[in-house]
Formats: sequence, C-alpha cells, structure tokens
Amino acid sequence: MNVSDPVVSLTGVGPALEAKLAQLGIVSVGDLLMHWPRKYEDYSSVTLAANIQPGLVTLCGWFEQISSRYVRRGMHVTQAVLRDASGAVNVVWFNQPYRAAAIKPGKTYYVAGEYKLQSGRFAVLSPALEQADSLPLHSARIVPIYRETKGLTSKQIRELVGQALERVVLPATTLPQWLTAEAKLLPHDAATKELHFPTSAEQLNLARRRMAFEEVFALSLASQLIRREQRLEKALPVPFKQPLAKRFVESLPFTLTNDQRAAAWQIYQDMAQDQPMNRLLEGDVGSGKTAVAAMAALMALAAGHQVAYLAPTELLARQQADSLTKLLATQGYDHAVTLLVGSLKPVQKKRAQNAAKSGQAGLVVGTHALLQEKVDWHRLGLIIVDEQHRFGVAQRQALMKKAGHMPHVLSLTATPIPRSLALTLYGELDLSLLKTKPAGRQTIITELVSPNSTQKLYDTLLQQINAGGQVYVVCPLITDSTLLQAESAEAVYNKLRKGPLKSTRIGLLHGKLKAVDKQAVMADFVAGKLDVLVSTTVIEVGVDVPNATTMVIMSPERFGLAQLHQLRGRVGRGTVQSYCYLLLSDSKAPSRRLRALESSSDGFRLSELDLEIRGPGAIYGYAQHGALDLRLANLSDTALIALAQKMATKFIEKKEDLLQYESLAANVRAAQAVTNFN
Ligand code: ADP
Ligand code: MG
Repeated sequence: MNVSDPVVSLTGVGPALEAKLAQLGIVSVGDLLMHWPRKYEDYSSVTLAANIQPGLVTLCGWFEQISSRYVRRGMHVTQAVLRDASGAVNVVWFNQPYRAAAIKPGKTYYVAGEYKLQSGRFAVLSPALEQADSLPLHSARIVPIYRETKGLTSKQIRELVGQALERVVLPATTLPQWLTAEAKLLPHDAATKELHFPTSAEQLNLARRRMAFEEVFALSLASQLIRREQRLEKALPVPFKQPLAKRFVESLPFTLTNDQRAAAWQIYQDMAQDQPMNRLLEGDVGSGKTAVAAMAALMALAAGHQVAYLAPTELLARQQADSLTKLLATQGYDHAVTLLVGSLKPVQKKRAQNAAKSGQAGLVVGTHALLQEKVDWHRLGLIIVDEQHRFGVAQRQALMKKAGHMPHVLSLTATPIPRSLALTLYGELDLSLLKTKPAGRQTIITELVSPNSTQKLYDTLLQQINAGGQVYVVCPLITDSTLLQAESAEAVYNKLRKGPLKSTRIGLLHGKLKAVDKQAVMADFVAGKLDVLVSTTVIEVGVDVPNATTMVIMSPERFGLAQLHQLRGRVGRGTVQSYCYLLLSDSKAPSRRLRALESSSDGFRLSELDLEIRGPGAIYGYAQHGALDLRLANLSDTALIALAQKMATKFIEKKEDLLQYESLAANVRAAQAVTNFN
C-alpha cells in the first residue's frame, strides 16, 4: 500500500466512513498518517488490581461475574469483575449492551479507563478493552487521541492508523541522509510511528521534533529559493533624487518619525538597484505607512515609471487614492493618480485602462484584483500592496513575463508578524519596521465592559456623541445566525436605532451591501453626517476617520487578538483621547487574550503574545488561507527555526536536487504558492 492510495483501500473503509474521513481532510492514506494526535493519554503502566488508585488506569486480567441489564428505560448497565493475580476490581459500562457478549471467558484483556467513585462504589467506568495477546492500540500504552468528527471516534481512527502503519511502506528518507544526521533527526518512518503510537515520552518528543523540522524546513527552503531566483530578476532602477525627497518631506503637515525616515531610506536604496526590491513595511495601525508608501511612489514617478497601489477592498482603494492624491499634490503629481476599481462605470473604467496603457496614469490605485485584470501597463516599475505580504512564485513569473522585468515590490502590513514567523515564512523579504508612533498620539483607553453595564456604556456613548465625537460599533456577524451565538450588525443596528441611541444618526455598513451603498454610508460617516456606524469588520484595515474616537466591539470573544488590535486602530487617529469598549457576551471571567488587549497597545507585543497563547494553533489561522499546513511546528521554537534555516542554506549550497525528495518538493511548492496570511 502506498501513501497516495485512497482511504477506501483500507479494510473496513466504505463510502460512509470515507465521507467522514473527508470531513477531517483525510482523503489518502498519507493524509490519515498525517492526522497527528491532538493529545495522548498515558495508559502505559499496567496497575495491579491490589494497588489501584482513583484516576486513569490500565489493568490486565480476566473477567468474572458478567451481568448485563437495563436498570431503567434508556439506561443499560454492564457490570463485571476484572481479576488478576493480585486481586479484583469492578468494571462498569453504561449503554454499551454489546459488551457482555464480546467478552470471551478465560481470555486476558487490557482494560483502560478512569477508576472513580460512582453511585457509592468504586469502579473502572466504561473503559477501553483489548485482548492482551495482540499489540494493544487502545490500552497499556501511551494512547493517541485524535481530532474527531461526528460518527468517527478516536478509537476508529486509531484502528485505521494502526492498520495503515502495518500496510504502508513509509519512506525512511524524506530528507538527505547528511541532513538527517547533522540535524540529529529520527528517521521519517520511525517518527511517524512514534507520533501515533509512542513507545515513550522521550521518543515522542524526538518524533515531534523530526516532523516539526520537516515543516519548518520546507518553509525556509521555499523562501530561500525564492530569494535566489529573485536575484536573477531584472528591475527598472529608480535613481534617488535627494532634493525631491527633501522637498516632499518639507511639504508634509507633520514631521516624519525616525522609523519612517529609516524605512524610506531603505526603500530608496533598494529601488536604486537593477534587482527588484522585495520589502515588507510592518507598522502598527496609525504608524504612518501611507506617507512612506507615497515617498516610494514619488521617486518611481519622478523616474518615469508607473506605480500600482493595491488595496484589499474598494473602500480602501478609494480612500488611499484620496490620501495619495493629497500627499503627491505638493509635488505636482496629483493628476497622475487614477482609480481603477470594479464598480466604476464602463466608460470610466475604459478611460482608466487607457491611461494605464498610455502611461498617462502614473499611479493606478485599485484592489488586489488589479494585477489579474486585463490592464496593460506602459512601464510598471513599482507595486505597493496593502495587507498582502507576498507575491507567489507564479505571480512573480506572470508579472515578469508581461513586463519583461520585475517591478519593485513594497508590501505594507499592519498585522505585526512575530519575528520568528516573518523569518520562516518570508525569508525572501527584507523588513522595515515602524515601531514608534507619530508624536502626540494618545494611548487608546481600552475597557472590558460587562453585559450588566450596557446602559452605562450607552450613556457614555451619548455623552461623547454630544461632544461631537463619532462612534464605531463593530459586530462579528452581518445577520443573526442560529449557529453562532454572537451579535450581528443588523440586529444591533435595529436595536440601537430604536432604543438606546435613538437620538443619534446611525448608519449600517457590511460586506453584503452594494458597493455604491457602502460608499455612501462610508462617505456620510467621513463627512460627519453620521454619529454612529454599526459595522462588521469591513472597516478593519486602513479606514481613517480621525473624528471617530470611540469604538465598541460586540462579542469580542469572537475575534482573534491581532484582529481586535487592528479594529481598535480605527480610533485614536487624531489627537483627541480615544476609547475602545469591549462589550463581553457574558459575565464569565474574560479570556487572557481580552485582558492582554486591555493592558497593552503594542501590536508587536500582542502578536507575540497571541502566538504564545494560541501556540501553533495560531498558525492554523494563518494557514487557512494558504496552502500552508503547519501542524506540529511551534514557531516560538527559535532553535528549531534557526536549525532549519541553516540546513536550508546548506541544502542549496550543496546543489541538492529537490525533485529527488518528493514530499519535500510538494511542500516547498505549496509554501511558495502562499501569498497571503490574513
Ligand atoms: P497606517 O500605518 O495605519 O496606514 P496612516 O498612514 O493611515 O497609518 O497614517 C495615520 C495618520 O497619521 C494619517 O492621518 C497620517 O496623515 C498621520 N501621520 C502619518 N505620519 C505622521 C507623522 N510622522 N506625524 C504625525 N502624523 C502622521
Ligand atoms: Mg494604511
């Protein structure tokens, strides 16, 4: 049997089970073997009946006095006594009427379960049972517990994995021999077996290390290979014109922060090369990335190149087009700014496309779709991407093919990526950080509000509105859902409008509205014609309304820490004190995540904390949108990451042929295709 064989080739897997396995993402036998246990229960030491203590136990013995009956309707009890050489213990199963018939007299069994007090007497409750003459899967060992789905238990998965491990010939080498030796890794096949059926805690750790290494190594190798290929690409150099930069900086209504200056300087140095820039500008919300991006754009325009500015949504594209027009107006480039988005009227769109083709449009602002659309460029020299971190290899190649050169790329992100993650996933990107906020910014006062204090909260909001402030109310859902217990924008909008905030002007914004309606609502809010904007996370990234100084987040438990921090960044953009209220859904103690948000406003710190709190699980969040699949690697394991990077460099230096390592090659390809982690 082969890892690529479908799961139906396993004995006992028919169409029904196949469908259930598919729900867990398991299609092939290899997928099944990569369905790592979520945790383990240690039944490895077999206890003598005479020494039994309450808790998880494994016993080995034979059964006596088996009785099986309904004690009342719907409640069946099987009772038995398990005897070994030292004594006897009671065993009880509830609602498993088949048990009595399945136990063979005179046979020796492993029994694994919890020994505890039940209705006045001690017994092992509904334990797993296995004959002791075969190698045990469910007892007398460290037992794997899997992620399950309805109708598919850990026990079934365990049996299938057991079968697969017996029948599949696993590759021992998914990595070169020298590498396995040098990094001191368990062989692949042994590690796979250990991860499912550990022989000891130490071996399990080594197995996990091997597989985690494989995951991180593929990522490191992917980004190092991209970096190497990038060095072979040609770009249009952008000469640095110091007087122009100086004039622009002087024209700004504020003084640049040192971080902004440093970032702009790095960008100018990169762009002056005939190799493409590939730089990620990381800066918390409000740190002033737009001004830096404008400086990059300015220099490219002055060199006679075109610039594409890609925003995640149309709303933001429009807003950024406005901001950039204003910023560049002082240097006479305001007419160069052209908006090109899907909702334009056909004539306008055609005009914008023509302007891009003729070069008359120097700076074209659109959404991420802009590059996929049929836009012909005259001379595209620089791409600025908001909230997308990387161009995949295929995208880069398409760009090169079309233009004959690779544009410089500047990615902007307000999602502070923990350093370990950035190094692993985006090794090919150079990083510029905006760590300091512009001077004069106030810290946003963040408060957790208990559901008992909503009236007080509404009073506070009314006061702030009366004082001329504007308020965002953010909800996790658009419409009420029967599945999810969370506030919806529509319901909250209707409630506030009719009740607590009746006297105010309220608008509703969410992703299902037509583009024109969205723009109208947003425009009203920007113009101060609305006091309150009830919204989903469509306002998340980049929206800039300095007069909005208060935000209420409903059902904050529904959001991730990084996302909450981003949302909060919509307020506190002016010089007035701003507030963020997290209205809790119930009076339970708030999570560590929410308390962290209350006490810190440092996005970098919060992202590290998020990684720490959620562990590798946090990466699942990143992974969902890409082909990337980190299951075992913990990106706070800096030693492992450093090792993987060193080994990836060696792998390339030794001119290893990637195609010889089939699964590694597939993982590298998947990692290279990943473009966006939001
Ligand atoms: P973000 O990094 O979230 O994209 P923006 O570029 O939208 O932030 O900047 C947020 C606000 O801060 C804007 O109104 C911008 O004009 C202002 N700003 C940018 N840089 C500075 C600075 N150095 N000093 C003061 N205000 C600044
Ligand atoms: Mg921005």
